[in-house]
Amino acid sequence: MARGLRAVTALLVAGGIALAAAGCATRMPGRSYAGPIFQPAPAEVAIQERLRRHVRALAGDIGPRNVQHPQALEAAARYIQARLEELGFKVTPQEFVTDGRQVRNLATEIRGTTRPDEIIVVGAHYDTPEDTPGAADNARGVAALLEIADLLHRRRLARTVRIVFFVNEEPPYFQRRPMGSRVYAKLLRSRGENVVAMLSLETMGYFADAKRTQHYPPPFNFCYPSVGNFMGFVGNRASRALVERVVASFRQHAVLPSEGLAAPGWIPGVGWSDHWAFWKEGYPGVMVTDTAPFRNPNYHKLTDTPETLDYRRLTAAVLGLCGVITDLAWRPDLPRSVGVPRP
Ligand SMILES: [Zn+2]
Repeated sequence: MARGLRAVTALLVAGGIALAAAGCATRMPGRSYAGPIFQPAPAEVAIQERLRRHVRALAGDIGPRNVQHPQALEAAARYIQARLEELGFKVTPQEFVTDGRQVRNLATEIRGTTRPDEIIVVGAHYDTPEDTPGAADNARGVAALLEIADLLHRRRLARTVRIVFFVNEEPPYFQRRPMGSRVYAKLLRSRGENVVAMLSLETMGYFADAKRTQHYPPPFNFCYPSVGNFMGFVGNRASRALVERVVASFRQHAVLPSEGLAAPGWIPGVGWSDHWAFWKEGYPGVMVTDTAPFRNPNYHKLTDTPETLDYRRLTAAVLGLCGVITDLAWRPDLPRSVGVPRP
């Protein structure tokens, strides 16, 4: 009996510690948006329609795109480059060879006016897993980044904003040497570039309004809502200051609920995108996501098609993120320890 009681007590204590740790990891500044669903103004409807067009072009017309589907991967790269050039950007490809094929990241930038050497990287991968059309993963991230580039292009920004489309994020290259973001982040580190923030747009734009549409690895299910209607911001513990800064800013700008997490990178899902590659180089990184497999039933499936997505709320996310990036580009008080290159 006593032994049983001790076991129960130990279990309760362990559960309590896990919950307290989860509480620390999940506590964020500001208040999540709680009003009606975003209604775009007439000018914003144009953004929504362009988002839809980009996703249809990539996930509908082009389809599965990766080293195993090289022509489609090339078509996707050309689509992105053409859109950026239409907007007036100069695109710099970063080419490298994977499994005998030449592939490339695509980068462009909005040069900072007063602090050009402090760099904010905003990235999205444009390859897809296996034979999936990859609408959610990650045509939407690409579409959002194209529209963010368009909106930010007209703004004056103190810091440099680097916009990068990554290849090879998905398996078999995920978290391995040929991962596009890994190649890119290593290059920045070798040049001694000062990345003060990295945002990875990953699988964003699937929303649901019913209870129990959102799932989590335990014990986070005790800390977050069960309705999958929010945008998530996820970083490791070293990126905590950045996660808090980004969530606080998004909550000021966005007509969309939001949640943040700064937790150890080994927890399933926390490092599942290109921000991981920046952590590896000592840079702070945050994933912007609808939480992917924890919400979207089409994740990494053949059913990941353009019509499963909510373009209205994706537009709200794009507008909110433009506010976040503008804040990051101007705020004088970004933590100084963040992103200072290692000697
Ligand atoms: Zn992805």
